[in-house]
Amino acid sequence: FTIIDPLAGGSRGVKFADVAGLKEVKQEVMEFVDYLRRPDFYKTLGAKVPRGAILLGPPGCGKTMLAKAVASEANVPFLAMNGSEFIEMIGGLGAARVRDLFKEARKRSPCIIYIDEIDAIGRKRSTVGGPFDGSSGESDQTLNQLLVEMDGMSSKEGVLMLASTNRQDALMRPGRFDRQIIIELPTLEERKEIFEQHLKGITLEHEPRVYSQRMASLTPGFSGADIANVCNEAALHAARDKHTKVVADDLEYAVERVVGGTEKRSSVMS
Ligand code: ATP
Repeated sequence: FTIIDPLAGGSRGVKFADVAGLKEVKQEVMEFVDYLRRPDFYKTLGAKVPRGAILLGPPGCGKTMLAKAVASEANVPFLAMNGSEFIEMIGGLGAARVRDLFKEARKRSPCIIYIDEIDAIGRKRSTVGGPFDGSSGESDQTLNQLLVEMDGMSSKEGVLMLASTNRQDALMRPGRFDRQIIIELPTLEERKEIFEQHLKGITLEHEPRVYSQRMASLTPGFSGADIANVCNEAALHAARDKHTKVVADDLEYAVERVVGGTEKRSSVMS
């Protein structure tokens, strides 16, 4: 697993201000920041704070960003793992990794554990079926270990567990996660905000807000990651043409290019 520890220096983490749109979701996860910052306040009140939340939504819509933002705003370590790492593991290795992760988290508490693609745990490599179907020995061990650790975690420990998935059916066994947070593809207004965020990073002919409305209307169905991609492709296109500034044509060309890439990806998958 990877660890980002703000106390150990390192790069400036993702902040809430970097996450465009998702206003309500941001408000919801900001509560977690407060739990991590003032655990004693909640303890004194006798409030049991949520031990974790599952973030459900399509790929590239900011789930990882949000989880990282909670950690960096609360100034606590972020311990991350991807569920798909466990798929090929044999000989109880997956279960041992999960044990190590939680052990490390308890040591570094208060902190956040983030498991991306949690639905991959408990899924066999070849299974197309549902996650958590409990059919394969090895992944079963990993999944069981995860459930044991989660059940054993008390809200006093200061370890907040966030997990992400894009599969509705991973929301099995209600009660394991105290909260479910739904993240959707960005709306027109949100796409505009995401464009403004990412256009800030490239050298444009005019200010970002000159382009953002039109770009948002050209990109229905795009995720935040697709939008980040458009901005980068536009800059690359301008460079190819030896322009020193990105112009509207570059951005429009980039939309086509990203649409093409997305189509190719989905035709490979189907
Ligand atoms: P996955 O399920 O594929 O892990 P995710 O939902 O965790 O996806 P992120 O990794 O958080 O998605 O987002 C990928 C990238 O897309 C980010 O690094 C960022 O550049 C961009 N992005 C996504 N959503 C937003 C947003 N709301 N605001 C700004 N940038 C965004």
